[in-house]
Amino acid sequence: MWSRRAKFCLLCATPLERAVVEGRSRLACPAVDCRFVVYENPASAAAAVVRDAAGRVLLIRRRIEPYRGAWALPAGYQEADESPEDTLIREVGEETGIAIEVDRLFDLIFVPDDHRKPANVAVYLCRPVGGELRAGHDAAEARWFALDDLPDEIGFDNRARILSRLPRAAEPPGA
Ligand SMILES: [Zn+2]
Repeated sequence: MWSRRAKFCLLCATPLERAVVEGRSRLACPAVDCRFVVYENPASAAAAVVRDAAGRVLLIRRRIEPYRGAWALPAGYQEADESPEDTLIREVGEETGIAIEVDRLFDLIFVPDDHRKPANVAVYLCRPVGGELRAGHDAAEARWFALDDLPDEIGFDNRARILSRLPRAAEPPGA
């Protein structure tokens, strides 16, 4: 994680030092007029379970690491001025060309082992409302899959953590 390797204060560029702050060893700025502390918090991310009327789920094949070449749910990190729903509308559009409506929160999954940074991933059930299927952004491919015909290689443990827990049929709109 970048914050463990930080060398200089983000605010005043003084070299950071290890200090116990609020009961934990943290990187902190020793300058008395600064005292900036590097708090290590999980990132916020969102993942979309987009299902069509037939109950198929929308997956993308990843163009980049981690899990390059594997399939995964469309997902991304939340920008500071976005709600998680906004993040998904943007990410699904960029990665698949499909316009979505976010239905409801399915789960919040803490992922401590992502090598980039730990994250809280908000997983939402969504439905397609338009657009044309085409891969873009970080996706090499985008496709609809029936739940009983999922690809073998699925990244981020999406199969066990999310896909295996979905009801077989998509919920009808408004359910
Ligand atoms: Zn400082």
